[in-house]
Amino acid sequence: MKEETFSQIKTMLSTIKEKSAFYNKKFEGIDMGDVKTEEDFRNLPFTTKDDLREAYPLGLAAVPDEKIVRIHSSSGTTGTPVIIPYTAKDVADWAIQFKRCYEMAGITPKDRIHVTPGYGLWTAGIGFQLGAELLGAMVIPMGPGNTEKQLRMMIDMESTVLCATSSYALLLAEAIAEKGIGDQIKLRKGVIGSERWGEKMRNRIANELGVELYDIYGLTEVYGPGIGINCQHNHEMHYWDDYVYFEIVDPKTGENLPDGTFGELVITTLQKEGAPLIRFRTHDLTRIVPGECPCGSEFPRIDTLIGRTDDMIKVKGVNIFPAHVEEVLALIGDASSEYQVMIDHLNGRDIMTVFFETPVSKDDYKVVEEQVTEVFKNRIGIKIEAKAVQMGDLPRSEKKSNHIFDNRY
Ligand code: ZN
Repeated sequence: MKEETFSQIKTMLSTIKEKSAFYNKKFEGIDMGDVKTEEDFRNLPFTTKDDLREAYPLGLAAVPDEKIVRIHSSSGTTGTPVIIPYTAKDVADWAIQFKRCYEMAGITPKDRIHVTPGYGLWTAGIGFQLGAELLGAMVIPMGPGNTEKQLRMMIDMESTVLCATSSYALLLAEAIAEKGIGDQIKLRKGVIGSERWGEKMRNRIANELGVELYDIYGLTEVYGPGIGINCQHNHEMHYWDDYVYFEIVDPKTGENLPDGTFGELVITTLQKEGAPLIRFRTHDLTRIVPGECPCGSEFPRIDTLIGRTDDMIKVKGVNIFPAHVEEVLALIGDASSEYQVMIDHLNGRDIMTVFFETPVSKDDYKVVEEQVTEVFKNRIGIKIEAKAVQMGDLPRSEKKSNHIFDNRY
């Protein structure tokens, strides 16, 4: 941890119990003055999404009412939503971070930014807008839906930057291709809200729209999108370490992991007033990328998200994610992307079986199976049983977790 980061943390901790009833309760019995080293900080309990839910509606507020200028809420599809109060400084800080994201992506005040993420309680659309306005670019605040109107405005307003989720960007790209209006579209960059999306989808969107794509990272609990983005050099995302402190922990044990190792991202806010968060567990799986980026930026980097902690399984001591299986299958020409994984425990050892679909004839199954086994061993480091099946034989499911069955417990 940088010295200045730790001093930001200590400053925040020195008053957190007075300001925040939430943390006063959470840190009951802990004297904040005792947090003198990085290790002391790492011994503080995590803050979880369930904790935030319990604080509904405004229990997270760490400032008097009159300082709160806005709230946002994370999607409450299941149970109680989480409400995050923002002060004027929080809103301004968010805009500063978002502006940095646009600049990192080479977007300038001359750009026309077409914003398709939704406006409302959640943090998407309005964050994209705030940052763009601070940058001085022209915003076209579309929100989602109505493809016809999106395309018309995109052409007439000469939008140069598309902000969207990956699935919506793909939908628009396909609509443009279908109508054959590609030559009327002026887009040059796409800023895509972070979610895990494969290389195949990235290439399709980039090619069909003819744009450079950028992954923007963020979550409602911590400002919203805009706390990190990749640069022109690679897919890894720089994050603003003057506003947020990132740790990577083992999702099972909570132990801190060294830079370069994949694990769960844990975030501490360094400047947030309305709802500061200390060691918040994001459930996002990534790693801190060691070393310097060729772009020269001194902001540290995290890797592209490889999934959520709920998707992770441990086999023979190795953490395995759906992204690993997809990565291996993508390298084998004769394997399709459809797969199913079974994990069993037999005679005292774990056995991981990967079923995958292939268009080759049954006589050639063995050859493809051997390829999959070998690539898996080389890239992921464990021996698996590969089983080829015919195209269409595996059940289809949108949910990644439905591709992996752990029969050990
Ligand atoms: Zn860079």
